[in-house]
Amino acid sequence: MAVYLKSAAEIEVMRQANQIVARTLAEVRQAAKPGVTTLELDELAEEGIRKAGAKPAFKGYQGSGPYPFPATLCTSLNEEVVHGIPSNQRKLKAGDILSVDCGVLYDRFYGDSAVTIPIGTVSPVAERLMQVTQEALELAIQQARPGNRLSDIGAAIQRHVEGAGFSVVRDFVGHGIGRALHEEPQVPHYRSAGHNERLRPGLVIAIEPMINEGTWQVEAAADGWTQVTRDRKLSAHFEHSVAIGGDGPIVLSKLAQGELS
Ligand code: MG
Ligand code: MG
Repeated sequence: MAVYLKSAAEIEVMRQANQIVARTLAEVRQAAKPGVTTLELDELAEEGIRKAGAKPAFKGYQGSGPYPFPATLCTSLNEEVVHGIPSNQRKLKAGDILSVDCGVLYDRFYGDSAVTIPIGTVSPVAERLMQVTQEALELAIQQARPGNRLSDIGAAIQRHVEGAGFSVVRDFVGHGIGRALHEEPQVPHYRSAGHNERLRPGLVIAIEPMINEGTWQVEAAADGWTQVTRDRKLSAHFEHSVAIGGDGPIVLSKLAQGELS
């Protein structure tokens, strides 16, 4: 496995990249109200990212899609899992849950983080799905320390999520991040053979559980990019970029103390 370990100086630049992402997500959260379109959120995000001296990382990204991704954010509503395309036809309404995924390139390094935002008052199951997903990410982050194995991360997520009666998406996984948006290693969010490597200081990974209310299975929507749950039940997604420090995890994409959240 070709894994690129980062120096302390490189991790500091990655922290700055991820702080731009975190501030963007905080701005989007404040703006995400009933009546607002996902394209308006995208424009807000792109403007802030460019003002901060960074570039949107997803715009033009080829990845797994049938054509380059056309926007700054991935905005995925309700049964949409990931890779939703912002649109002036998609107006938020009370009761929606909106996954917002944001990546930037700053000073040659990438940042990547995602949150799921409730719009107005949401159903109890939507509330619980978001909470369980966020808890699973926190449990996973606690496993991101030297000496543990990569597979400890997925095992922690799967245990918590399935214990709550929800399911873990298999088709998309977390990833190493650095000078590329997606680096080795892959980071499954479930127990999986062949991911037994030890976590070492300097490894930086994006952990991003996608958790479904019903089946874990997903399929592509008509636009070719957007992934939806096969049973059209709800999905939630949270992501942090995390450095393995000598003493434990360093979450690069959490807003610094005192900043709005
Ligand atoms: Mg992301
Ligand atoms: Mg990611």
